[in-house]
Amino acid sequence: MSMFCFQCEQTAQPNGCTVQGVCGKTAPVANLQDELTAALIGLARAMQATEVTLENVQLLKRGLFMCVTNVNFSEDRVQEFIDVINNAHNKLDANIPNFDWEELWKGHEDIVSLRSTLLLGMRGMAAYAWHAAVLGYNDPEVDAWFVKGLVEMAKDHSAEEWLGLLMEFGGINLACMALLDKANTTTYGTPVPTTVPLTVEPGPFIVVTGHDLHDLKMLLEQTDGKGVNIYTHGEMLPCHAYPELKKHPQLKGNFGTAWQNQQKEFVDVPGAFLFTTNCIMPPKEN
Ligand code: SF4
Repeated sequence: MSMFCFQCEQTAQPNGCTVQGVCGKTAPVANLQDELTAALIGLARAMQATEVTLENVQLLKRGLFMCVTNVNFSEDRVQEFIDVINNAHNKLDANIPNFDWEELWKGHEDIVSLRSTLLLGMRGMAAYAWHAAVLGYNDPEVDAWFVKGLVEMAKDHSAEEWLGLLMEFGGINLACMALLDKANTTTYGTPVPTTVPLTVEPGPFIVVTGHDLHDLKMLLEQTDGKGVNIYTHGEMLPCHAYPELKKHPQLKGNFGTAWQNQQKEFVDVPGAFLFTTNCIMPPKEN
């Protein structure tokens, strides 16, 4: 089975991954993610034609986020979510068609590049927006653009029109980053300079990797007074600087190095590992 993905800098060759993703994504998963993208366009079209609810906007965010690099490697989970999206779409208006996912990468190379820039940018914005949403923060202007961006992505535009859309999207993305900053600093406090130990203390421990501060916070609350130490890994390192996270004394330090070293750094370690949201590698079979 073939695939096409040129989403990230890990790509096997300048033209993209076409047999298997360097990230670990298989061809079936890559194709299902394209199908999911087309289903999201269908749901956005139905929302635009009927009503835009926060519940369905959250589905758009989750679906786009699911297709970010190093987020999801499961055929079953992507297929399940396609079904969820199609159900939501059909409840609004089953007569409005989905986009044909094979069209995503077709057309003049400049147009494909412009369309892809919007799609990949919106996937990234969905990650910010979803992290904010789990903390209860949503911005109506950002939410409206998830619908608009997906609908426009499936239309024909001149290069000038695509550039106009991308400039508009850039402004919305900035607003979304401000939303996530507000969500994190309101919930966990403003980060302060912090020294982070790199040593592991005796006793049971859990290593947390990925990006999700909310998951880390829940784990810290659940391990308060339990004698289990917590260590961050990879992108979780900055969490030590947030006052509401660092106040938990069992948050001891940082383990290992960057996210892409998870597979080799977690082998034979006598601890438990919590993988959260993004920047994750598929666990090795053994
Ligand atoms: S996301 Fe994975 S499949 Fe896509 S370009 Fe990057 S390494 Fe290749």
